[in-house]
Amino acid sequence: MEILIAGAGIGGLTAALSLHHVGFDRVRIVEAAPELRPLGAGVNLLPNAVRELAALGLFGELAAVSARTDEIGYYARTGGLIWRDDRSAGSGHRWPQLSLHRGRLHTVLTEAVRARLGADAIVTDARLTGFTELPDGRLEAALDHGRGTSSSTLRADVLVGADGIRSAVRATLYPDEGAPSWQGATVWRGTTWVPPFLGGTSMLVTGDGTQKVVAYAMSPEPDAEGRVLVNWAASRPVDDGADADRSDWNRPVPQTKFLPHFEGWDLGFLDVTALLADSAGAFEYPMLDRDPLPRWSFGHTTLLGDAAHAMCPMGSGGTTQAIIDARALAYCLATGGNTEDALAAYEEHRRPAMTELQLANRNMGPEIVIDMTYDRAPEGFRRASDVIPAAELADVARHHAEIGAFDPVAASTGSPWTV
Ligand SMILES: Cc1cc2nc3c(=O)[nH]c(=O)nc-3n(C[C@H](O)[C@H](O)[C@H](O)COP(=O)(O)OP(=O)(O)OC[C@H]3O[C@@H](n4cnc5c(N)ncnc54)[C@H](O)[C@@H]3O)c2cc1C
Repeated sequence: MEILIAGAGIGGLTAALSLHHVGFDRVRIVEAAPELRPLGAGVNLLPNAVRELAALGLFGELAAVSARTDEIGYYARTGGLIWRDDRSAGSGHRWPQLSLHRGRLHTVLTEAVRARLGADAIVTDARLTGFTELPDGRLEAALDHGRGTSSSTLRADVLVGADGIRSAVRATLYPDEGAPSWQGATVWRGTTWVPPFLGGTSMLVTGDGTQKVVAYAMSPEPDAEGRVLVNWAASRPVDDGADADRSDWNRPVPQTKFLPHFEGWDLGFLDVTALLADSAGAFEYPMLDRDPLPRWSFGHTTLLGDAAHAMCPMGSGGTTQAIIDARALAYCLATGGNTEDALAAYEEHRRPAMTELQLANRNMGPEIVIDMTYDRAPEGFRRASDVIPAAELADVARHHAEIGAFDPVAASTGSPWTV
């Protein structure tokens, strides 16, 4: 069976590796970019994604280029601890959460695809512009090369749209959908070398009822001065609208664009203003997602990762869920009878939970605990449990982890996607 994947991002590459792992050897990826480059900044692999990448034999390589994140600490902007979400081995997690540069993850996956599936498994400078279903059920993809200066077609038995938030496969299935949905906020990102904070293995989420900052170490080792490379993302609602076409992950902006909004943010254990000010550069990205879809699989075509369920970046789920999709898809194609049934089974496994996660993330996901405490105690608090019962805070984290299937019970039992 010939399988064509559109998009050599995290989801598409993991799909190719997963399909090859279960025995499909005619898998090809077409990628719009002229060359594969290690782009982006920090991403998180939640324990269930680490488990799946370990099943593909990549744990050692990934651990060597990642920082371990043992806990997520939610703090009020005035410094008070709201809630700690324990991801350490002591909390029952068998697999760690890994934080790393997206480019490093992308490189590990790309090299594994080329080593296992062959150097020509990834075709760059090949942008899928649409596809048609042939009378025999096969698909014919239309491809553009050299910025539209030439074109070609490619046929396959199965087409997987892993082509990101602006997926051309999705646009062919849903021609009236239009641009991604803007969720009313802008995110600025950067990386800064700083001394470790909160023990060095904590992800910090802090904010008030309006603005938020997320920061975590992503370098495997400290530098000669004992500093770790911290990825940070600062977000704030803006009312001037957003142009989805400007949503390039690597669009630089001067720090002056956002620093005034975060002036005086000092938590005692971390000077947040300095963290933002001292970064080597900063990038701006509008907070975009997609509406949940009523259907992902049509005949021999399906969607995966951001193409299927792009979500607001709350709780570090986007990369993890693309990886789980990839493994689930391979499992279903290997075990699910005819192709149509297999793709329908894949969708049945994944779409309901992803719809719930997309909607939960529009409502701040697990970061909602910051808004909840701010609403009840805008001036700060001595102990968070004086403001909100600890059980209520625990419930938020537990519920979110259960939807994403990275709670200790779900993530620590064996992979459900091993054939
Ligand atoms: C350059 C880049 C930088 C990013 N940086 C970050 C970051 O710093 N932090 C973060 O949390 N997330 C980042 N993301 C998003 C993150 O990688 C995804 O949200 C998540 O990993 C889900 O992966 P995905 O494979 O579904 O989508 P993506 O990782 O977005 O991959 C989609 C791939 O499809 C390709 N593509 C798009 N259209 C077509 C087409 N028509 N034909 C063929 N190929 C196509 C794209 O070039 C890309 O390689 C970035 C994405 C990209 C593309």
